[in-house]
Amino acid sequence: MKHIESKLAQIGSLEDPVTGAVSYPIYQSTAFRHPKLGQSTGFDYARTKSPTRKVLEEAFAELESGDAAFACSSGMAALQTVFAMFQSGDHLLVSLDLYGGTYRLIEQIMSRFGVTASYVDTNSIDELEANLRPGSTKAVLIETPTNPLMMITDVERVCGWAKRKGLTTVVDNTLLTPFFQRPIELGADIVVHSATKYLAGHNDVLAGLIVTKGTELSQRMFFLHNSIGAVLGPQDSWLLMRGMKTLALRMERHQSNATRIAEWLQGHDMVSKVFYPALSTHPGHDIQQRQSSGNTGIFSFKMKDARTIEPILRHIRLIAFAESLGGVESLMTYPAVQTHADIPEEIRRKVGVDERLLRFSVGIEHADDLIDDLSQAFEHAREELK
Ligand SMILES: *Cc1c(COP(=O)(O)O)cnc(C)c1O
Repeated sequence: MKHIESKLAQIGSLEDPVTGAVSYPIYQSTAFRHPKLGQSTGFDYARTKSPTRKVLEEAFAELESGDAAFACSSGMAALQTVFAMFQSGDHLLVSLDLYGGTYRLIEQIMSRFGVTASYVDTNSIDELEANLRPGSTKAVLIETPTNPLMMITDVERVCGWAKRKGLTTVVDNTLLTPFFQRPIELGADIVVHSATKYLAGHNDVLAGLIVTKGTELSQRMFFLHNSIGAVLGPQDSWLLMRGMKTLALRMERHQSNATRIAEWLQGHDMVSKVFYPALSTHPGHDIQQRQSSGNTGIFSFKMKDARTIEPILRHIRLIAFAESLGGVESLMTYPAVQTHADIPEEIRRKVGVDERLLRFSVGIEHADDLIDDLSQAFEHAREELK
């Protein structure tokens, strides 16, 4: 099997030689019998290793070109487990336009353990250099594209710089998934995911994944994952694998729908700007097309008038007003009051998350139906503001 589409469709299907089950079973057991003293089947206690989770983890490590993967109970649990590598006095360089929950974890929790961060434009080596604290800075955390403003970082360039400085590079690959982008192939040491989003794909499973490159880092992460215990249960591991079998098809449809709708919005007289790297007008377009084989299904756009936001959110019908992204159902989010409320206004303004910005996670419905829904909501807003 050479192609990622085949690997995705076949996750777990060759793993049960006893029954030949095509869909790998859910092993709902926390304890495993030992044949005799000093012997193990390979499974002892489910926090350390559990069969259904193991099949998911091994498949995912291969999909991301890593050496090991660790399934966690959420994306935040995955990030917390990675952050447990650091200790008091350590400093991180972090993408400026960052997922709100990650910012909150660093500023309200990690800070109490003496770990600090500087928020920088990770695409500027000058800015990275200027914020580097020799001896204290331990890692760079990149989101690309960022959520919600879709800023693109040149992963290979930053990883090269980080390696020369002896820093670990962590990439949050939630928005593209290994189907479109594989950061470890570009030089990253660790990849993290909110698997809740595109990987699971159906707005019904909460999960996270960590992938590591190299034996030492993999052993360290195994220790942290088992010691902290924020692991994914067998039922959710199975649901995640089931979702991932259709990842290739879903990502292709998310991308084509999002591209069509972004182009439609760009031509609309009530919209001032669309932030989507697939558009040639996007500043990160060239880097994105070089380092990834496709585009995410989520983008943001700014309305000309902030007063249109409330009626638009009230009138969308097919598109749900809800926070999350990456599922088959389309969701609209208002970042300034929802996902990014925990980011101080000063930082939000600096990156451009303001009261005119909407984020659209485009689902796999027919693009025409989504455009019709947006169109009628826009016209209602126009009427109400007359
Ligand atoms: C949602 C999200 C997270 C957090 O993941 P959960 O599964 O909600 O805990 C982290 N990073 C990004 C980019 C996300 O979109």
